[in-house]
Amino acid sequence: MSDGLDILAIGAHPDDVEVHVGGILALAVSKGFKAGILDLTEGDLGTRGTPETRRAEARAAAECLGVPRAILDFPDGRFTEDEPYRIRLIHELRRLRPRVLIIPSPTDRHPDHERAHRFAREAAFYAGLKNYPCEGLPFRPEAMAWVGGENPGTPDLVVDVSAVWERRMQAFDAFGSQFRVVEGQPQTRISSPAFRRGIEGRSMHWGSLLGCAHGEALWCDKPISPVLMDLLVKLR
Ligand SMILES: [Zn+2]
Repeated sequence: MSDGLDILAIGAHPDDVEVHVGGILALAVSKGFKAGILDLTEGDLGTRGTPETRRAEARAAAECLGVPRAILDFPDGRFTEDEPYRIRLIHELRRLRPRVLIIPSPTDRHPDHERAHRFAREAAFYAGLKNYPCEGLPFRPEAMAWVGGENPGTPDLVVDVSAVWERRMQAFDAFGSQFRVVEGQPQTRISSPAFRRGIEGRSMHWGSLLGCAHGEALWCDKPISPVLMDLLVKLR
């Protein structure tokens, strides 16, 4: 990843990215772009799965999408927006150098997602300041977008991911400790079949707005960055 990614998706937990934008990443790779995933935590507070199983699942999912993945070890639920964490994230951004950054939702049921949104936005800004005391050459992503929360309303952008849908859902299903009903394991909201159906249903609804089978949605600042538009046009 030394000469920079075209697109990097950041998640608070391993599997966040695959819930929302696995299709966009797989599509980007299929068109010759360099895409990647950065998870801030190992999801160590999860009701099911250990950090080890979640890392293994995350690696399998990234392989399925064809992207490199880095997993930081911020403490799940307990990372803060303070300097030591900010420096770690700035360092990753300066190392990975993504032109377009996809970050978590600013409004969501899980507080980590909201915090990760604010934190990633801040880090992306400070990463570009020459004198910020952090290793690596200054770098700021040229464009940013974010995924939706629980019930996000009309997207700003929808990407037709029908061509990679099967692979995208294989990557989602790689997180067996989280999204599968397993006898003897506690049932959680995300292991319920309704959660998976919600992902498929939303993708079909968003796809219907474009007249295609499956779409993934993004939100962004307005006016929409030409860099973001340009990348998404090339994914068509
Ligand atoms: Zn999450």
